[in-house]
Amino acid sequence: MLPYICIWLAARDLIAVAPDWTRAAGIERYGWMAFATAVGGIVVYFCALMCTHLAAFRTASNIRKTGMAHLMKTPLGFFDSNASGLLRNRLDGAAGETETLLAHNLADIVGTAAMFLSTLVLMLVFDWRMGAACLLAAVVSVAAMFSMMGGKNAKLMAEYQAAQDTMSKAGTEYVRGIPVVKVFQQTVYSFKAFREAIEDYSAKAEKYTVGVCRLPQAVNLTATEGAFIFLVPVALLLAPGALKSGSFALFVTNFAFYAVFSAIISTALARIMFAASGMLLAHTALGRIDEVMNAPTLEITNHPQTPKDNGVEFKDVSFTYDGAEIPALDHVSFRVEPGQTVALVGPSGGGKTTAASLIPRFWDVSSGMVEVGGVDVRQTDPHVLMDRIAFVFQNNRLFKASILDNVRAARPDATREEALAALNAAQCGDILASLPNGADTVIGTEGTYLSGGEQQRVALARAILKDAGIVVLDEATAFADPENESLIQKAFATLTKGRTVVMIAHRLSTVVNADKIIVLDAGKVAEEGTHDELVAAGGLYARMWADYQKAVSWKISA
Ligand code: ADP
Ligand code: MG
Repeated sequence: MLPYICIWLAARDLIAVAPDWTRAAGIERYGWMAFATAVGGIVVYFCALMCTHLAAFRTASNIRKTGMAHLMKTPLGFFDSNASGLLRNRLDGAAGETETLLAHNLADIVGTAAMFLSTLVLMLVFDWRMGAACLLAAVVSVAAMFSMMGGKNAKLMAEYQAAQDTMSKAGTEYVRGIPVVKVFQQTVYSFKAFREAIEDYSAKAEKYTVGVCRLPQAVNLTATEGAFIFLVPVALLLAPGALKSGSFALFVTNFAFYAVFSAIISTALARIMFAASGMLLAHTALGRIDEVMNAPTLEITNHPQTPKDNGVEFKDVSFTYDGAEIPALDHVSFRVEPGQTVALVGPSGGGKTTAASLIPRFWDVSSGMVEVGGVDVRQTDPHVLMDRIAFVFQNNRLFKASILDNVRAARPDATREEALAALNAAQCGDILASLPNGADTVIGTEGTYLSGGEQQRVALARAILKDAGIVVLDEATAFADPENESLIQKAFATLTKGRTVVMIAHRLSTVVNADKIIVLDAGKVAEEGTHDELVAAGGLYARMWADYQKAVSWKISA
């Protein structure tokens, strides 16, 4: 504010000596003072911004750290329905969005408040009538601003923002669906939901902007940019009285003061508007951060027990997915002795994958107990549990790293030789031979991509290297062409030798030699026994086996 005061002082001196301008002595001094204080203001503002930015970046980085630390504690199954990349993006973006408020708006809010208060005092010091006229402009504009946000209009604004949210979600769905649109030769119009979301948004946006905002915003801008509208008429009214009382020079000086100061008002009000939008942004960002922070976490025991052996036992286990009505597993009990191979079979949706994912605690049971080595998995140290279990699931992720590093992810301290031996045991020789840099080739670069069956074998090498006592695997022969399949079977044989194995079998030919077969149907154990026992029993398994044999003997005849 000091530069403005200096300018006003210069104006006052000029007016006092008018029209003999050369007699004004202090002008140059005021000019330099205005310059110095303006530069000083910039320096102080710069220092303030340095401080607020440091604080804002630290806050954002703390949000990211806390959020990531929280995500590390969520059950792995959580990432099935919440892609980890999406979560990271959401957290990262939301943390970044708090920056505007903390780094910029906070400094502006303080500056604006100080400016407002001192303006208020100065206004009333010189001539309260002209001061009141300037303040009236500010009051009118603030009132117009609030009328856009209050009462019934707040509901309209909420609707408008909800429509925007819906539209962006529908947009994501649309982009995901593009392959389907192309394959089935659909037009964009077939995405009714997206189209309706856009139309709804456009209607709501128009309703809010034209219906609610147009008039108040016009009033607001007019009042802030043209405080003169109020000042000039008041000055004209007061001028005759000042002429009569002989204090006209003082009157003109005061008028100059208010003319200069009314310019500050619009700057201050514009900053308040920016601050309001910064607050809104930070508020929605915090909402998204909360969503991440509200993700469920695995409970970690303070008194971990060590599993005694490699047996696995389900004791009356029930499990219902979040939001599902029917339990995916319903009072399931079975036991896998150390070193045994147990196969889970049954119709699709029977609960095989769910049962397998309860063993490494991808989820925790809703009731009952899953035991590994005679200890409830919830009573073990998660690291100890993970060290004991190797799992190969259908959707194995390979990292964008060299094949060697992908395998070593299971045991980072393994030597190169050990990793190569594991790759060899997993029948990956042909994959390595076909890659430009062998095991050092980085997957996903320079056109090196692996087929589903090949990825499966690398994942098996990873599990072999881990050398865990318990192996949980989804026998995923789904992608495998015949050539891959025989290699995968060989890799399976190496992986499962001498270990406790819980396998989800899709092809019944692989379960014939299992020590025990558990048939899961609609979340319940329908049957349990060896292949021969179950075929003899003539139940669900016997029917599946008969179907399977029919399918295997099918031929395309001439
Ligand atoms: P299977 O592997 O035998 O085909 P699953 O264990 O995958 O069967 O599924 C068992 C039941 O749980 C099914 O009804 C399925 O729809 C449901 N289900 C599976 N995964 C989820 C999930 N992430 N959220 C909700 N329900 C699920
Ligand atoms: Mg499954």
